[in-house]
This record gives sequence, structure tokens and C-alpha cells, in this order.
Amino acid sequence: MMKSLHVLLVEDSEDDALLILRVLTRAGYEITYQRVETPEGFRAALGTQSWDIVLSDYSMPQFSGSDTMRILLESGLDIPLIIVSGAIGEERAVEIMKAGASDYVMKGNLARLPPALERELREAESRRARKQAESQVQMLSRALEQSASLVMITDPQGVIEYVNQAFTQVTGYSSEELVGVHSRVVKSDTTPPERYEQMWTTILAGDTWRGELQNRKKNGDLFWVETVMSGIKTHDGTITQFLSVQEDITERKRLETELQRYTTQLERMVEERTAELRRAKDQIELILNSTNDALALAQSNGDIQTVNPAFVSTFGDRAAQAIEYILWALANEEQINLVGDALIRVIFDSDSKRVEAQVTTKDGSGKDIDLALIPVRMSDHDPKSGVLVSARDITQLKDIERFKARFVADAVHDLATPIAGLSTRLYLLQRAPEKLSEHVGALQNQVTHLRQLLHDLRTLSNLDKNQLISDLRPLNVNEIVRRVFDTFEPIAVDKEQQITFEPDPALPEISLDAHQFERVIVNLVSNAVNYTPNRKAIHIKTALDGDTIVVEVADQGIGIGPEHLSHIFERFYRAPQARATQETGTGLGLSIVKEIIDQHGGKVSVVSTLGEGSTFAIRLPIQ
Ligand code: ADP
Repeated sequence: MMKSLHVLLVEDSEDDALLILRVLTRAGYEITYQRVETPEGFRAALGTQSWDIVLSDYSMPQFSGSDTMRILLESGLDIPLIIVSGAIGEERAVEIMKAGASDYVMKGNLARLPPALERELREAESRRARKQAESQVQMLSRALEQSASLVMITDPQGVIEYVNQAFTQVTGYSSEELVGVHSRVVKSDTTPPERYEQMWTTILAGDTWRGELQNRKKNGDLFWVETVMSGIKTHDGTITQFLSVQEDITERKRLETELQRYTTQLERMVEERTAELRRAKDQIELILNSTNDALALAQSNGDIQTVNPAFVSTFGDRAAQAIEYILWALANEEQINLVGDALIRVIFDSDSKRVEAQVTTKDGSGKDIDLALIPVRMSDHDPKSGVLVSARDITQLKDIERFKARFVADAVHDLATPIAGLSTRLYLLQRAPEKLSEHVGALQNQVTHLRQLLHDLRTLSNLDKNQLISDLRPLNVNEIVRRVFDTFEPIAVDKEQQITFEPDPALPEISLDAHQFERVIVNLVSNAVNYTPNRKAIHIKTALDGDTIVVEVADQGIGIGPEHLSHIFERFYRAPQARATQETGTGLGLSIVKEIIDQHGGKVSVVSTLGEGSTFAIRLPIQ
């Protein structure tokens, strides 16, 4: 295969030039050439293309081999130059070689040219390769020097051979301070020793180690690096050096630590807040569960969020789901409308509402409630309010109110009757003064009735103040009953009633207020006498029933209808038959009886059949 060759010939003789070219062609070169014979021509030719070789005659009319050499040197081009000349002295030849010619060949011995040329080309080639390698190394080392990564090269024992700029900048050591020193100079004691051990084992085995290390600067500050470390090996695998490339990750680490700290802090805060909320919730639940008020929290759509047990027992299980079911528990349509309207007003107008209502509770009993409906903001997004429902049981309060109202009405009525009787009688007296004694008798009756009424009212008022039982003493019940019996016997006899008393002689003494207990027996016996027609029987007896003393007053009188039986112990209550029989009754006697017996810890009861008679029984515990 032909080797191509670019030859620049400096030769004044065309014949010689052809001769040289022929020799080279014969040696196997495919020649491209240019022949020049002046310095200007030579200079110009050097710039036109890249030449493999310059072949120059030594002595020419306008030029010499020395000029060729000088011009070539000045050009800075690395082209081998072989002097091809006629005979020159040995001395001159050495001089030429010293000046920079690669070789010289005698024109008379051109056979030497091809091998000389061959050698020069080879040398030029290897020069070029070396230059290229050198510039590459230079480039790499510049890159290494300017790299932002910290680079360190140590010998196999760890003694530093090289550090780059970044390394000296970060550590604060100069490269003179580091080179020749063991790399542990930058080691900190915060990195666990196992990590270094692991690193050495890895790199000594010829592998690459990656990991994070905390190192120490010259001024003592610590810094974090992410390190890649590996051995530099020869062909046979021997480690000649270690290369360590490190990224300064101090800032990243700082951010990581800070983030970690914030996260931990946040977690702790959330935990504390959660515990606080849980405690508050527990407390609220305790309050909700222990209060007697029925409480529920409803959303604006009517869904119930929370209820307490009192709410469920007042309004039922359904109402614990949705607020509208509260209406189900209400007593009548009027109240349903009232409460329904109030609920709507609370939800849409955020107005508090308060209504009194009656409900039928879960166990079927009726209750009066004071219902408070309070708007509550349930969420920031809902323009409508939720509702806090709070229902207080006011049944007792209402009972007292009702009782008072009836009591006053009854008292007024009962006072009005005798007063009307008095006025009528006075009017009649004016009209017919001659019937004086008859009128006075009637007036007397009305006044007695009024006095009785006042007396009963005073007794009741004292009973209400719990002032009645003041004088408790061990007494024999039989004695008191006997005294009352003795008082009433003549009146009964007058009415031809068969009145009898059958005391149980075995009665033990018990602790009683004699005065009040006598009042009880008086009331029962006087009722028996009053409400029993002439010639009928009244039977009074005492008995011992276990540890209870029983006093019974049984009559064959008018009796009491079953519909009135449960009311006769109420104040002012009088059955219609009694009103017809006994105009001047107050309706207070039995309520006084009940009160006094209650205060003695006893019980009073009645069994009666209308038109046949009644039996009142008092039971008093011995102890
Ligand atoms: P008063 O006798 O003044 O009406 P009480 O309180 O003593 O008031 O009695 C209440 C009512 O109980 C009477 O009005 C009457 O209807 C009924 N009553 C009480 N005792 C008897 C009795 N022995 N026989 C029938 N009815 C009675």
C-alpha cells in the first residue's frame, strides 16, 4: 500500500529535485510536493498546507540550509527537516544538526534518504502524540483545579499528594500545608469510627466508597461532605493512589436538620394540642352526661351532632338523629308550630329563642320544659347557624304555679260563699226585722263557717312551714281517740246514728304530737258524722298490725265516687255529693289530715263505695 507524503522541497536544481522524488516514489511513497528556491517562496509555501517533511538543499544561489532552518523555527511549525546536499564537511554537518535539522543526506548517497525520512516521520508522529497527551493532561488538571468539588489525592497510606482549590478554600488550609500530611488532618471525631473503617475496607478492596462524612476545617468548624472515594490503579491492579471527590453538603445538612427540628416541634405541638382538645372534650362530655338539662347540638341542616343522655330520655332516640324529631315529642299542634317556627328563626336569623312547651317523654309521662334554642356557628363556610338545644325540666315549678293559682281561686270562691250568705241574711234582716232570732241564727252559722275556713287555712299555712309537729311525746292512741269519740257521741246520738268505738287494749305507746293527732281524729270522725245519714252506723276501732298501729273510721254514709277518690286529699276538693249534704265544708280537712300523718311518718288511705259508706284508715309506725 502506498503511503501518501506531502513534501516541501527547497531546491534550486530541478534535476536534483526530480532525482529525490524518484528515490522516494520508488521507496513506496505517493508524493505531493512543492519546490521552492527563495526564502519568500518557502515562507509562503509553509502557510498553504500541512507538510510531512521539508527537504532542503544546503547551498543555493539565493538561499542556504541555515535560512531554511531559521525560517522553519520562526514559523513554530513542528515539521522535520532533512538537509539533502552535496558534500559538506563533517564539521558543518554537526553544526547543521545542532541548529535543529533532523538529519542530513548526501546527494551522492540518496539511498539513505528513505530510511532517514521514515525515522523522522515516526519521531514527528510520536512528538505530536506526546504533545497532544500533554495538553490533554493540562486541560484535565485545570478542570480538576477549578472544579467546585473538593478533590484530594493521597498515596496508598493516606498521605496527601494533591488537593484542589475548592479543597483549600473550604478547609482553610493551603495546599502547602496539606501536601505530605496524612489526610486525617481534616477528620472530625463526630463521624463514627466504624464509618472510616468501612471506607478503608472498601477502597483497599479496590471498590468505590460513597458516604457522608463530617470533616473539620483549619479553624475548627465542622462541615459535611458527600464523598466518593476510590483507588487509582495500574494495569496490574496495584493501587498507587486514592482519589477522593467530595461535595460540600453542610448547607443541605443544615436545612435538613432544621427541617427535622421544625417537623419534630410541629409534631409535638400537634400532640399537645390534641391532648388538650381531648381533655376539654372529656370535660365537656362529663358535664353533658351529668347534667339534668337535655342538651343537643344540631347542624343547620338539622342533623344532630351531639346529644347527652338527658336529651334522649326527654325527646326519644329518634330526636338524637335529627332535630325535627324534637317536634314529635311535643304535646299538641300549637306547640309543634311554635317550636318549629322558633327553630327556623334560629337557623336562618341566628336569633336565640326561648319557648315553654310540654313533651311526652320516653317513659310516657308528661313534662313541662323550658326550651332554649341558641344559634351556634358550626363552620366558617356555612352562612346558616347550627342550633344548641337546651331543655330544662320545669314540671315541678309549673305544678307549684298551677297549684297556687287553683288554691287562690278556690280560697276566693270559698270565702265568697259565706260572705254572700252574710249579705243576703243582713238584707233580709233589714226587710223583716221581726224575724230577728231566725236571722241571727243563720248569721251565726255563716260566721262559724268563715271562722272554720280561716282556722283551716291557718293550720295549713303552719303545716306548710313544717311548724306543726312541735311537741312529740309517748302517748296511747286509744286515749286520744276515746276523747274525740266522747265529744262526738252526743251529736251522733242526736242524729240517731249508731256510733261505736272498739279500742285494741294491746296498743303500745308511740311518739305523737297529741294536739295535732287529735285534730286528725276530729276531722275523720266529724266527716263520718257529717256525711252519714240519720240512723246509720259509724264504727271506730284501733288495732295492732305487726309494727304498725291502725286507726279505722268506718261509716255507712254517702260514700265517694271512684272519680273523686284520688282527689279528696287535695286542698279545697269536695265531691258534689258532699256539697249537697254539707253546705259549710271547707274541703281542707282531709288535706290537713294527710299533712299531719305524713309528718308523723304514717299513711292515710280510704276505701269507699258511693251510696254505701267509706272507711278511712290511718297507719302509724311504732318506731
Ligand atoms: P269537707 O268535709 O270540708 O268538704 P274534707 O277535706 O274533710 O272537706 O273532705 C273532702 C271531701 O271528701 C268531702 O268534701 C267529701 O266529698 C269527701 N269525704 C270526706 N269524708 C267523707 C266521708 N266520710 N264520706 C263521704 N265523703 C267524704
